[in-house]
Amino acid sequence: MDDASPVAEVTDFDPDVLREKYRQERDKRLRADGENQYVELAGRFARYAEADPYADPNFSRPPLTDEVDVVIIGGGFSGMLAAARCKEAGLTDIRLIEAGGDFGGTWYWNRYPGAQCDIESYCYLPLLEEMGVLPKEKYAYVTEIFDHSQRVGREYGLYDIALFQTRVKALDWDETQKRWIVSTDRDDRIRARFVVMALGPASRPKLPGIPGIETFEGHSFHTSRWDYAYTGGDTTGNLHKLADKRVAIIGTGATAIQCVPHLGADAQRLYVFQRTPSSVDFRGNKPTDPEWAASLTPGWQRARRENFADIVLGRPFEVDLVNDSWTDIFRSLQGPMAMRSAAPANPEEAARRAELADFNKMNQIRARVDATVQDKATAEALKPWYRQFCKRPTFNDDYLPTFNRPNVTLVDTSATKGVERITPRGLVANGVEYEVDCIIYSTGFEISTDFRRRIGFPITGREGRSLVEYWSNGFRTLHGFTSNGFPNWFYIGISQNGLSVNMTAMFDDQARHIAYIISEAQKRQALTVEPSVAAQEAWVETVHSLAVNNRAFLEACTPGYYNNEGSERPGSLAAETYAPGINAFNEVIAQWRAKGDLEGMILGQ
Ligand code: NDP
Repeated sequence: MDDASPVAEVTDFDPDVLREKYRQERDKRLRADGENQYVELAGRFARYAEADPYADPNFSRPPLTDEVDVVIIGGGFSGMLAAARCKEAGLTDIRLIEAGGDFGGTWYWNRYPGAQCDIESYCYLPLLEEMGVLPKEKYAYVTEIFDHSQRVGREYGLYDIALFQTRVKALDWDETQKRWIVSTDRDDRIRARFVVMALGPASRPKLPGIPGIETFEGHSFHTSRWDYAYTGGDTTGNLHKLADKRVAIIGTGATAIQCVPHLGADAQRLYVFQRTPSSVDFRGNKPTDPEWAASLTPGWQRARRENFADIVLGRPFEVDLVNDSWTDIFRSLQGPMAMRSAAPANPEEAARRAELADFNKMNQIRARVDATVQDKATAEALKPWYRQFCKRPTFNDDYLPTFNRPNVTLVDTSATKGVERITPRGLVANGVEYEVDCIIYSTGFEISTDFRRRIGFPITGREGRSLVEYWSNGFRTLHGFTSNGFPNWFYIGISQNGLSVNMTAMFDDQARHIAYIISEAQKRQALTVEPSVAAQEAWVETVHSLAVNNRAFLEACTPGYYNNEGSERPGSLAAETYAPGINAFNEVIAQWRAKGDLEGMILGQ
């Protein structure tokens, strides 16, 4: 084998057979109703999202009708970073509005047992270097992450500007006053010069539209609102109240992978209803090494984040600082030559190598199932048959062994494209009714569904323009942050900018950029700032033309939220991503800022 063709040339499998197997497994799961198979948590299902087990139910305060310079919507890491970076840019009159009773966002709500960030904590947790702290372990659990968000809140003075337990109900641009009117469920009508939307991609849970779902007479909840009053225990497990309970969990994504081991350990019976198995890789958590901590030098966190992003994007790299199962995936996908920065001869050769390496990687994942799960039929059903990045990879060392417990049953629902029916007493799959006391929905979030579903409230710009309608055929932004007709409005998100699995790093760069634009608009005494249609359309065209390969990859994938459940709707996650990746995107916006002329933005008086 020569150096130019390093990857998996020696194979013990037939790529054509695997390709065909992947196609069959995808086709088996494609549903005509696409993302409409999920129901929104509104009306009779609203209770699944609105219940806040952590906040004071009797909280009340008088409505506000005042004015501030900047309203930030969302108190998760993206909103906190927006506030911190706006403060650093000299903005002082800021208010942050958050639905929960504290900071934390996804880590406030998702306190299910075993909840842990699957990205290395030294890369993931924001502002570590600024605050001079380090997490206890390589992969932090939710309690430490939630504590960290509270620390950020304290150290950056964000508690003073926060309105908790408050949900925004509408955003309306008032052209006469050149202000946004922010209306909330506490009857506030706050005027704001600028609005930054920092809702987080996983802030709206969704339920599967399984026939009969409303008829179930037992207990049920969504993983993002874990009911410890019912299960007992806490985020570390010990769910002692389940000792005499038959429990069903629907879904086997990144969330279920983390909580199923605790349910298996404590429930009298556990039925795991699976439609598509996750790829479950090695975790190997370990305590933070004090010697390594002492060796860190200024700039270490950005350098580490960029190194991680380079590897996960297939860019050349000299050293793998994170060196975990995430980077191993990409090292495998790029092949051994990646460390030596060898470029494939042409795009076809690159694609061929990547596919072979992917087959190899997924063979390892499937072999891990065989090596761990004793029952052969269960092991077979737990094997994922798709390319690694068709779905979010997961990492856990306790999930697969859970299926060796006598009280745990895997119910494979792939033949019927999901659970068939819910009855007053339980769930039906493959014609069998499973009677249970409790159903836990681990069925995900409105991450990439239709924009209206993701946002949950109307946004009305100049001349009554509805943002949902304006974006109904796809996002129309400059750099993902701003849109014509919506002056002084900024969006921190995952579309038309550089996407990273390390979301907080991405949010921080977005927050810095938005803070820059707002402070520049202020310095220039502009009343409004928004992109021109020409600049916006040019950016959309850039994103779409670069995303061609992403689209082709995902079309061949098993359905999921990465590819709009296999539907054709415009605006899927991958099609709307700046394909060269987060580091390249950051270079684009850094150069844009360096030019100093707010190119493509219209400043209004
Ligand atoms: P997902 O959307 O990933 O998973 C939903 C699950 O529900 C899937 O397994 C899906 O099956 C299943 N499902 C949906 N409908 C049915 C049905 N009718 N019958 C049977 N099964 C059904 O949600 P998660 O909450 O697991 O994860 C969401 C995201 O949150 C992750 O992808 C990740 O980005 C993030 N996350 C991050 C973590 C971190 O550590 N950083 C930890 C946890 C979550 P199918 O696959 O067939 O659609």
